[in-house]
Amino acid sequence: MKQAPAARPASKSGLSIIVPAYNEGQGLRSLHTRLGTLAEHLAARWGLACEVVYVDDGSRDDTFAVASDLAPTPYLDVQAVSLSRNFGKEAALLAGLDHARLGATLFMDGDGQHPPTLAEELVSHWMDEGYDVVYTAKANRDGEPLLRKLFAKVFYQTLNWSARHKIPEDAGDFRLLSPRATDALRRMPERNRFFKGLASWIGFKQLRVNYEPAEREHGVSSWNMKALASLSIEGLTSFSVAPLRIASMLGLLMAGVAFVFGVQILVETVFFGQSVPGYPSVVVGMMVLGGVQLIMIGIVGEYIGKVLSEIKGRPSYFVAEHSVKTLAKIDSVR
Ligand code: UDP
Ligand code: MG
Repeated sequence: MKQAPAARPASKSGLSIIVPAYNEGQGLRSLHTRLGTLAEHLAARWGLACEVVYVDDGSRDDTFAVASDLAPTPYLDVQAVSLSRNFGKEAALLAGLDHARLGATLFMDGDGQHPPTLAEELVSHWMDEGYDVVYTAKANRDGEPLLRKLFAKVFYQTLNWSARHKIPEDAGDFRLLSPRATDALRRMPERNRFFKGLASWIGFKQLRVNYEPAEREHGVSSWNMKALASLSIEGLTSFSVAPLRIASMLGLLMAGVAFVFGVQILVETVFFGQSVPGYPSVVVGMMVLGGVQLIMIGIVGEYIGKVLSEIKGRPSYFVAEHSVKTLAKIDSVR
């Protein structure tokens, strides 16, 4: 069952670091050490109280055992949340958000690709300059396969096509949200979540920081083409009706072409007495139309599926185990 997060009012001068972890048992200790150092810096520089929320997303390794064993420091509380199965990164992020007890939130991956050293810079944009959403974006995609780059391009073009609010290209999940931005994120009721989109959609003062993601410290990325495709469909259908519009426009185009073709045949038959030659054009026309119709039904189906899953209103995740360890004198730091 989903448990209510431990009661402690959100404080303006606190930061909850949310770390989704799927099979990251090997690397969590070194990440935790680095977060400990980060928390010490944040406390020294801004008197910020810190906690880290590790969300074990139904890992098959010892991630939860490791996470719940990690020691808090005088500057850093530790929460470990274990989900009842693998729900996917977006659900893990939501679980972290639900358990965060301090005002601001910082989302970072559990595989060491999001450097804690950069986190201090992100916090300074919030604390010193007053930005509400500080997000990071990959400085370049040079190392990535061509197909993936092309895929990303097409995805963002479609997503932002005719959208009033553009979602920034290449923004990653390493992002800091101020207390009011975090609250705004919490008030989004949808169950099909696409965090990048949501964090951008809420508005407020947003800042982009370019960075070069570090190499994964161990293990393998759990994203493959299939998972990426499914996240993209998720993102597209929850943020844009562009696919539906494309469908209607394609339909209009087809009808236009068919009309011109029809006029041509009519003219040929009436004025030139030519009979209509051959089947090929008929067959090609039928196949094209059939294919296009199937694709469009599929697109409409995606949206209906989304409506269905929102209507069912199931929780996005279930918590199996939860541990809180506190040493930080958060109340006195506040
Ligand atoms: N992750 C998760 N649930 C999943 C897949 C991934 O919580 O089902 C976490 C994973 O542990 C990592 C982050 O999401 O902290 C990013 O995953 P990964 O490194 O595999 O993706 P990439 O960095 O290649 O985009
Ligand atoms: Mg990674």
